[in-house]
Amino acid sequence: MSSSKPRVLVLGGGVGGVVVARLLAEKLRGRAEVTLVDRSEYHLFPPSLVWIMTGERRPEDIRAPLSGLTRFGVRFVRAEVEAIKPEERVVSTTRGDLEYDYLVVALGSEPRPDLMDVDDTVCSPWTVSGALKCKDLLSKARGAKVKVLAGAWSWPYKCPPAPFEVAFLAKYLLSEVRGLDAEVGVVHFWSRPMEPFGPKMASAFEEFMEKFGLKYVGGFRPVKARGGIVESERGEKLEYNIAIFAPPHEPPKPVAESPLSSEDLGGYMMVDKRTLRHPKYREVFGVGDVVAPSLGIGMAGVFAHFEAEYVATQIVDEIEGVYSGSDYNRSGICVMDLGYVGAAVYCDFKGKILGYSEYPDCVMLGGMRAFRVFKYAFEKLWFARWLGR
Ligand SMILES: Cc1cc2nc3c(=O)[nH]c(=O)nc-3n(C[C@H](O)[C@H](O)[C@H](O)COP(=O)(O)OP(=O)(O)OC[C@H]3O[C@@H](n4cnc5c(N)ncnc54)[C@H](O)[C@@H]3O)c2cc1C
Repeated sequence: MSSSKPRVLVLGGGVGGVVVARLLAEKLRGRAEVTLVDRSEYHLFPPSLVWIMTGERRPEDIRAPLSGLTRFGVRFVRAEVEAIKPEERVVSTTRGDLEYDYLVVALGSEPRPDLMDVDDTVCSPWTVSGALKCKDLLSKARGAKVKVLAGAWSWPYKCPPAPFEVAFLAKYLLSEVRGLDAEVGVVHFWSRPMEPFGPKMASAFEEFMEKFGLKYVGGFRPVKARGGIVESERGEKLEYNIAIFAPPHEPPKPVAESPLSSEDLGGYMMVDKRTLRHPKYREVFGVGDVVAPSLGIGMAGVFAHFEAEYVATQIVDEIEGVYSGSDYNRSGICVMDLGYVGAAVYCDFKGKILGYSEYPDCVMLGGMRAFRVFKYAFEKLWFARWLGR
């Protein structure tokens, strides 16, 4: 460690990066230099992308400038991370090299809609531009019957339940709000909805889908969606007017090309499941989507948030030589706006992450309008608590 103040470098100003940087600055109060690097000028809150698709939000509503973190004691450097060199404790960026004593990698996972073989009848609300395209397709839907398919192109992708949420919202928007005869289905490679979350969750989702008239086609891996027909790798064909897919995702390039990644994890970052530190470079931590494959869980903001809290605590403990008390919360709550109602699922992933249970321990908290309100309130709370907006 350098003789002056310890330098903590946080890569990525998304969900995990902003939480870890803010907590470190709050707890260390000037006793460490906290720097956050992001290529984007803005922090984006991805759970609200679905509301860009429905027209309830504009892009500027769901982002906040990262430069605003400066007033909370976090230095923001807007730059592209190009290379991570843990042997030298240096990160190379388009604005020069940055040295660190502690590094937190929170670079997420990159949605790559360009890797799908599709035409302009397909959209992916996994980015702002993709969500705007979905909005455009849905608002132009006409005809005696509109067929919409939502689904996932490949694994992993951010927010495992999102294709279902998107399907419910499309159905609600077209049938209830616009009065069209809309047939909406989900196509997915899981044989049952939400299969990796266990049989209880699969049954709960099946019930919801049946109740609101959505179809499910399982075991379907799309390879091409053009001219109103989506084809699976086994040659099955389904017709649609609009298709909405979770696109393929890739690990961030500077992670995949660094010694932090593992080929077994498809180029994502390797961490110790208990400490979230890299097994070889102990001063390097990972949080969020970039470590989800290493933890064996899906990619979700709720995990990024709790992991960030835990990592911040460990760094503070080490710098200050005290135990400041936060344990690693391995549970998550997922609240969805299904249009008709809101739905919430609570899952404890401890056994799944630590390898002693096949499925997370999940409870469906049910469907009611109050959960929609919860989702709206959480968005407001997020920007107020972490971005000061
Ligand atoms: C449609 C949709 C709905 C979702 N709904 C929910 C939900 O309801 N609940 C939930 O818990 N999760 C949800 N998620 C998932 C959640 O948003 C992600 O899991 C979460 O954002 C991950 O946080 P992160 O910090 O790992 O990555 P991100 O939030 O993606 O942040 C990564 C940051 O790194 C930056 N970056 C990447 N590469 C570079 C580089 N080379 N140089 C500089 N900067 C770089 C990016 O600009 C970005 O700011 C949803 C996601 C989507 C797409």
